[in-house]
Amino acid sequence: MIDTHAHLDSSKFSEDIDEVMKRALSAGVTSMYLPNVDDESLVRMNCLQERYPNHIELMLGLHPCDIKGEWEKILDRYDKLWEVNPSAFIAVGEIGLDLYWDKSNIGEQIQALNRQLDWCLKYDKPFSMHVRDAWEPTLKVLRERKCPELNGVLHCFTGSLEIASELIDMGHYLGIGGVATFKNSNVVNVLSEIGLDRIVLETDSPYLAPVPYRGKRNESSYLQNIAIFLSDKLDYSFEYVDQVTSDNANRIFQR
Ligand SMILES: [Zn+2]
Repeated sequence: MIDTHAHLDSSKFSEDIDEVMKRALSAGVTSMYLPNVDDESLVRMNCLQERYPNHIELMLGLHPCDIKGEWEKILDRYDKLWEVNPSAFIAVGEIGLDLYWDKSNIGEQIQALNRQLDWCLKYDKPFSMHVRDAWEPTLKVLRERKCPELNGVLHCFTGSLEIASELIDMGHYLGIGGVATFKNSNVVNVLSEIGLDRIVLETDSPYLAPVPYRGKRNESSYLQNIAIFLSDKLDYSFEYVDQVTSDNANRIFQR
């Protein structure tokens, strides 16, 4: 299994990352894709990849909540990192729009998003996108930029069936994680309509742990719980959920 979105570089793992990795591997989670968030996370991610070169892949991008201060200069620096060694990164991420915490800088967030989407086209990479309280402007950006070469994963997808269908029509994939297991979550209803053909699995560790760990620290081994939950609710075998979502991840992340 592939955990397509996990912040394993988080300080929440600084004490026991080796145990966390061991548990992930014994749960059958053999690849973890780490999105970059800000300048400090990149340093920690590099260390982790050196330690687990066969299991950890890195993304490069600036999170929408970090579009503040010197963000343009940070993107200038990331421009150079992409230029020097595009094969160091599996995807552009974590990028997106977040209007939950701050609506005032939406113009800058959209500017940063478009600038980072250019990397997808220039270096032939998918994106891993964060959307919070921002479906309307996100869909607008994606509609305007629609082209067969630009696609990626809408991570931690919790949107409506209508939004899911439009994203899939545009060629994108949906990242499904622990939120699907929460009471009152609409994710399973959406998946029962659209199936698993465009679904990849993720934990978003250390956040959003699935039931029965809800509220606790999340980790990549819990991807298994998410897959079991989906196979239960959607009446598929575990092997099918594992196979289809892993194949999807390999397709969109070009492995
Ligand atoms: Zn994330």
